[in-house]
Amino acid sequence: MAFTFTNSYLQGVYEDVCKKNAHEPEFLQAVGEVLESLQPVVEQNQRLAKSGVIDRIVEPERSLLFRISWVDDHGRVQVNRGYRVQFSTAIGPSKGGLRFHPSVNLSIIKFLGFEQVFKNSLTGLPMGGGKGGADFDPKGKSDNEVMRFCQSFMTELQRHIGPDTDVPAGDIGVGAREIGYLFGQYKRIRNEFNGVLTGKGLSYGGSLARTEATGYGLCYFADEMLKAAGKSFQGQSVVISGSGNVAIYANQKATELGGKVIAMSDSNGYIVDENGIDYKVIQEIKEVKRARIKTYLDYVPTAKYFEGCQGIWTVPCGIALPCATQNEVHMEDVENLVKNGCKILAEGANMPTTLEATEYVQEHGIVFFPGKAANAGGVATSGLEMSQNSERLSWTFEEVDAKLKGIMVSIFHAIDDAAKRYGHEGNYVMGANIAGFEKVANAMMAQGIV
Ligand code: NDP
Repeated sequence: MAFTFTNSYLQGVYEDVCKKNAHEPEFLQAVGEVLESLQPVVEQNQRLAKSGVIDRIVEPERSLLFRISWVDDHGRVQVNRGYRVQFSTAIGPSKGGLRFHPSVNLSIIKFLGFEQVFKNSLTGLPMGGGKGGADFDPKGKSDNEVMRFCQSFMTELQRHIGPDTDVPAGDIGVGAREIGYLFGQYKRIRNEFNGVLTGKGLSYGGSLARTEATGYGLCYFADEMLKAAGKSFQGQSVVISGSGNVAIYANQKATELGGKVIAMSDSNGYIVDENGIDYKVIQEIKEVKRARIKTYLDYVPTAKYFEGCQGIWTVPCGIALPCATQNEVHMEDVENLVKNGCKILAEGANMPTTLEATEYVQEHGIVFFPGKAANAGGVATSGLEMSQNSERLSWTFEEVDAKLKGIMVSIFHAIDDAAKRYGHEGNYVMGANIAGFEKVANAMMAQGIV
């Protein structure tokens, strides 16, 4: 992967990471991007190299890999592979979601865990970074199968996590249903009712507005940037990839702020509705019926459906919000976005834009916001859920939403300031990496070589 290092310490660390993790492309992509951004910081602060901060920050504190055996509805034994990477506890217990998807492997979990360290730091809350999951596909499984899988997964995971150690949450394939089963099994084994997981149901310690938080936060963040440029969502056409948790609530908030969401997708295809896509219809299709996005035509026959998800980026829009998965936006997609006059690309998903596509948009006048800043609203609200659990209190929707908005606004200004401080105004990739890194690095240096 083509990263340019002028700093020999960083180059050395990156080469070492490449040697040790040669078969982990997503992890190398995430590390390379961060280290490249940190060059001016490392050059101005010799202590970072002396105390080996970068050598340490690229190595997870602990990586767990375990077997999950369970029995399907036909009485057959199934075996999956489970992961939990506790990347950093420098500023708080490690925190990050669990992903259940057949594509899950150590590289993906490590890239997500590494990104999470900086994202969590940006929220201003005391949370370290981690990630986990399994190569289990909840699609097409019965509720009982999902429950048995979750119980088996938690039977191993429970010994490694805790409200002051590591606090998992949901991610792709892990929603309210899975968190419920995971929490139930944790409680059964440990005989403890605590805030060990976030994204819990409202009746057992969940936070209001957690479901909406990532999508809402993404739009609050983009709105703050638009305001700073004297603009708004009003009258802008918006394209959102995906139709899961992040995408649905990004649609709701973008619409409330005056935008018109004209296209959404799933992994099979995408829909275009020039009159604006009602998020409630998508919610019903995806959350209630667990059906394909194509079904949208049953509700709105005037809309159009296209097979294949990639074509969504050919739909002209002012604001693009990729909210599906990593590396879903490629070079030809951003060429189309630029050609069609897109002005903002804010990542709702984690690392959805490939490296070369990121460089291209930055060079062609699209304002680009990396996921580690733009989608931090989810984990920020998970942090608020942890606070409520510790206090044994529940805040109202409005209280949580107001705090979420405040956090997203301050993240925008923190990354904007960091980019300016190092002479790279408008480079929000650099701004996010630097602003997220500074707090973690200071904590690591204060705590000695551990
Ligand atoms: P969900 O599982 O709820 O939804 C994922 C959606 O993306 C589904 O609609 C899925 O469709 C679709 N999808 C998957 N691959 C593609 C593709 N190649 N093209 C188009 N659509 C695709 O996940 P979330 O919404 O929770 O997460 C989405 C992203 O946001 C992930 O990168 C996640 O890490 C990130 N994120 C999530 C947070 C959260 O709070 N949920 C917080 C921060 C980041 P299908 O049903 O066909 O698979």
